[in-house]
Amino acid sequence: MNSEFLFELLRKDSRLSFETLKFQSDAHLLFFLILSSRAKEEVALEISNKLICKYKSLDAILNSSLKSLEEDIKKIGFYKIKAKYIIEASKLVIKDYNSKIPEKFEELIKIPGIGRKNAMKFLSLVKNENFHLLLDSHFIRVIKRIGYYNSDYKHLEKEIKQSLKDCSLTYFSNLITNLGKQICHKFNPKCSRCCVAKICQFNLKKR
Ligand code: SF4
Repeated sequence: MNSEFLFELLRKDSRLSFETLKFQSDAHLLFFLILSSRAKEEVALEISNKLICKYKSLDAILNSSLKSLEEDIKKIGFYKIKAKYIIEASKLVIKDYNSKIPEKFEELIKIPGIGRKNAMKFLSLVKNENFHLLLDSHFIRVIKRIGYYNSDYKHLEKEIKQSLKDCSLTYFSNLITNLGKQICHKFNPKCSRCCVAKICQFNLKKR
């Protein structure tokens, strides 16, 4: 499998890109990260856009009630726990980091609602760090279908890192994960609309 060619195909597909995500402030990005956990990115983005218009800052969130925040985000899955996380995360970021999201992985994962995956996503979005592969269920399903059958992900990480050189592994993972969320569904993958169909082993075997 030629990882470089795969990356080129993924990067050209604007449906999968993270580069289109723009955030007005740290508060906006924090809301998005918490909301996007186990949810569709477009829904998380839409709701985080509404939240930042309404609340403007982390301080403003603390002046709202849990009930009204739940009401604001109830369109998204797990909204009750996410509303709690938004309040707790806002408190912590205001108190310990002067309202700026910290940029160290070890600090990020201590923020409520920001697990390892979101911390890596943050670093990929903000700092374009060359980190690790993000192994969520979408990533694993898609990468296997494409043709990386080896489940030794350390080896895969090394191989992809070597062939992509300048690319952030997190960014690469995000593209694959987005492909899984939007096109390569668990059941009924939409191969005819897929940017990697011509090199995907799963698709080629169907012919
Ligand atoms: S070609 Fe089909 S199976 Fe392969 S990655 Fe695309 S949607 Fe998934």
